[in-house]
Amino acid sequence: MQSLSEKVKIVKNSTTPSRHLVAIAELSPGDVILEEQPLLVTPHWECEQMKCSQCLQDSFVMCKKCEFFPLCIDCTTHNTYDCDFFCEGAAGAEISKNLLVENYTIFGVLKLLLLMENPANSEQCAALSATPGATVVDSEAWQEQDTQIVTPLLQSGIARVFKRVKVTHELLHTLCWRIDANAFEVTASDGNTLKGVYACGAQLPHNCVPNTVVTFDEDFRLKLYASVRIPVGAVIYNTYTNPLMGTSQRQHELRLTKGIECACARCSDPLELGTHMSSLKCTKCANGFVVCSAPIRDVGIWKCNNCAATMATDVVKQLLVDVGEALLETNSELLAYESLLAKYSVHFHQNHFVLVEIKQNIASILRAILMNPMCIPGKDLLERKLQLCEEMMPLVRAVLPGVSKLYGIALYEYLLSYMELAELIFEEKAAANAAQIFQEKLEDARDIAAKAKEMLRFEPSNSPEGHLVSRIAMEQKRIEENLRQLNSKRSCA
Ligand SMILES: [Zn+2]
Ligand SMILES: [Zn+2]
Ligand SMILES: [Zn+2]
Ligand SMILES: [Zn+2]
Repeated sequence: MQSLSEKVKIVKNSTTPSRHLVAIAELSPGDVILEEQPLLVTPHWECEQMKCSQCLQDSFVMCKKCEFFPLCIDCTTHNTYDCDFFCEGAAGAEISKNLLVENYTIFGVLKLLLLMENPANSEQCAALSATPGATVVDSEAWQEQDTQIVTPLLQSGIARVFKRVKVTHELLHTLCWRIDANAFEVTASDGNTLKGVYACGAQLPHNCVPNTVVTFDEDFRLKLYASVRIPVGAVIYNTYTNPLMGTSQRQHELRLTKGIECACARCSDPLELGTHMSSLKCTKCANGFVVCSAPIRDVGIWKCNNCAATMATDVVKQLLVDVGEALLETNSELLAYESLLAKYSVHFHQNHFVLVEIKQNIASILRAILMNPMCIPGKDLLERKLQLCEEMMPLVRAVLPGVSKLYGIALYEYLLSYMELAELIFEEKAAANAAQIFQEKLEDARDIAAKAKEMLRFEPSNSPEGHLVSRIAMEQKRIEENLRQLNSKRSCA
């Protein structure tokens, strides 16, 4: 099911039942740390469309043998153990054949119960129930899962038919947690998002600056690579938040969705690793930035790093509330975002997470315009796109050092606009040395493309990021073709 690099070992935590991986030899960027098959791939429990129990495509028929599990038109069988379980013996007689069809939300948890019940899996599945889930009891998510998954399962009488697994209220909630919060989002070949449960991969501790990259191939096989050099003794980390969020946002999300209190180097640094992603502009001096002295749980005082003037926490919070409300009123319009950006640039550092969010919104509108084959992009739009990329890329680099998917995607976006603009300027032939300028731009583009490809080099070719790699290869052809034409024109002249 899983294979571990010889350069890491599993270390059991002395106080909690959790385990983590530690480097016992130096790892280089690109070293494979872990390869693992999923224990289970399942639709998200809120998914309303029933999926085939064999291939996870949309289902419209039932298994003829067990009459319990949905299948698609192409599949005639599914997991033999599951099929037999509801066909023969106790389960067939005691449990309603319609249980799953009438409560499709239970699918993932039921599959995990069957995996645990199957003696062939007992070892791999031990981790599933070893630690309780970290959901806050009575939270909104817990309540919903209690009504939609736990109660229907308990009321169905299913606890009676499982022999090895002791089906309890607590275990069912733990299994809900394994799928809801402790699993990886994986993409099916039809583009649908599914949940992948992994025994070892799911136990990687979180850090807001990870030292690994995770990829999934078409069979949902997880591969974990070192993204940076990892010294002996270092813990192997993954990240479970969006790195472009500020500390207060990341902490809130981690607490709410994963039950994690992060105290990593980035979370405890008022400057967020020098990025200033949570800094405000000082109102008392020209060049100072106001930062929180103890950013974890937002308990410190907000003080200027230049003149030491303080700002009340309420004032900082109110500003954030104001931008949040203003963001909701933009109707996703380009000009509304631009004016919001101008308005709040007065208050926040240019890298502040709220400005980053506005810039991402602007960039995605520009992307849609530039991708539209019916529209010929003007120079101004392309220049704006490039400017936004240039502001965001150093940020991505700082929070995701080493090999990074996000940086690869940012470079790819930059490359597209860079090439478009270079070609547009060359076609205008306004400057006397237009050919010379074009040649230099093409050579830059060649470097950007190579860098983008390097960042995405671990992505399986059929993943969304893998498709980007082939798009980059097309850009590389376009660059070389342009360079060849320039040179042949020169030699003719
Ligand atoms: Zn199927
Ligand atoms: Zn069946
Ligand atoms: Zn952190
Ligand atoms: Zn100041």
